[in-house]
Amino acid sequence: MLIDEFNRVINYIRISITDRCNLKCKYCSDGDFGYIPHGEMLSYEEIIRFVRICADLGIKKVRLTGGEPLTRKGIVFLIGEISKIKGIEDLSVTTNGVFLAERMQELKEAGLKRVNISLDTMKRDRFAYITGVDAFKDVIRGIEKAMEFGLSPIKINTVIIKGFNDDEILDFARMATIYDHHIRFIEHMPFGDSDMWDSTKVIPSREIEEKIRGVYELEPSENHEKGPARMYRIKGGPGKIGFISPVSSHICSECNRIRLTSIGMIRPCLFSDTEYNLKALLREGKTDEEVKSFIRGIVKVKPEKKKEMGQIKKCQKSMRQIGG
Ligand code: SAM
Repeated sequence: MLIDEFNRVINYIRISITDRCNLKCKYCSDGDFGYIPHGEMLSYEEIIRFVRICADLGIKKVRLTGGEPLTRKGIVFLIGEISKIKGIEDLSVTTNGVFLAERMQELKEAGLKRVNISLDTMKRDRFAYITGVDAFKDVIRGIEKAMEFGLSPIKINTVIIKGFNDDEILDFARMATIYDHHIRFIEHMPFGDSDMWDSTKVIPSREIEEKIRGVYELEPSENHEKGPARMYRIKGGPGKIGFISPVSSHICSECNRIRLTSIGMIRPCLFSDTEYNLKALLREGKTDEEVKSFIRGIVKVKPEKKKEMGQIKKCQKSMRQIGG
C-alpha cells in the first residue's frame, strides 16, 4: 500500500493520455496551443506498465484524462487493457463529451464503467464562447448516450466562474432533481489564461452551496470514493450535488491521488509544479522494482497541503498539460 508521510492512503492515479484537445476552454488552456510531439508522450505500453506497477502498490482507481482523452487514437485498446489489470477496481474517463455519443458503444464494450463529463453552461452561445467551438449539442448527445448505455452515475463537472456562469448554478442543481447525475461544482483554479483567474474573484463553494440551499434542501451524503468532493442528496430528486473546493478549503487531507502527465511526469500535488520524470526511468530500462521504489519515494514527498487562497499564484502549466 502507498501511504504518505501524513497518513494519507494513495490509491488513485489520474493519467493524462494527451495534451491535445478539440476544445480551447479559456479558463483551462494557456492560449498557447502548441502540442507536444507524439514521441514525447508516453506510449500505451508505457502507461499500461505503469498502471500494472501501481496496481501492485495498491492503486485501485484509475482515471484517464487529458487534454481530451477521446482525441487520442487507440483509447479503446487502452481501456480494454487497463480494465484487465488485477487490482484496478474503478476505471473512468474525464471527457468534454463531444465525441462520447459516437464512441460510446466501443468504450462500453472495452470495459468503461463511468464517465465524468465537463459542462460549464447550458447555453449554446456561452458554450461556444468559453470553449471556442459550437459543440454544445454534441455534449448533450454524449450525456444522453452515456445514460442510455447505463454508465452510472454520470458526473457532470461544472467550473463556476464569476461573471460567466454563476447565474446558472440553480439550473445545474435542478438537473439533480430530474436525473441521477452527480452535479459537481468545482472552484475556478489558478490555471490557464492569466486574465481569467484572480484569487479575489473565485466564487467559493460555500457561496455556491448557499445559493442552492436557498431553493433546494440538501442532505449530507457519504462520498463513497473518499475523494475531496463534499456530497449531498438533493431532497425530492434522484441525483446528488457535490462541491469541490480546491481553492477556498484545504481538501488536501482527503487527497488520495497522484497524477501522471502525458509526457510521463509524476505530479504529486496539483498545485505544486514539482514533477518527477517517470518516462526517463521507463525508457532507461529500469526494472519494475526500481520503478516501484521511485513511486514510493514520490509519495513520501507529497506535500501536506497547498498554500492559502490569497497566496496561491497561477501554476506554470495549464490543466490541459497536467491533466485535470
Ligand atoms: N477534456 C476533458 C474534459 O474536458 O473533461 C479532460 C481534461 S479537462 C483539463 C478536466 C477538467 O479540468 C474539466 O472538468 C475542466 O473543467 C477542469 N478545469 C480546467 N481548467 C480549470 C480551472 N482553471 N479551474 C477548475 N477546473 C478546471
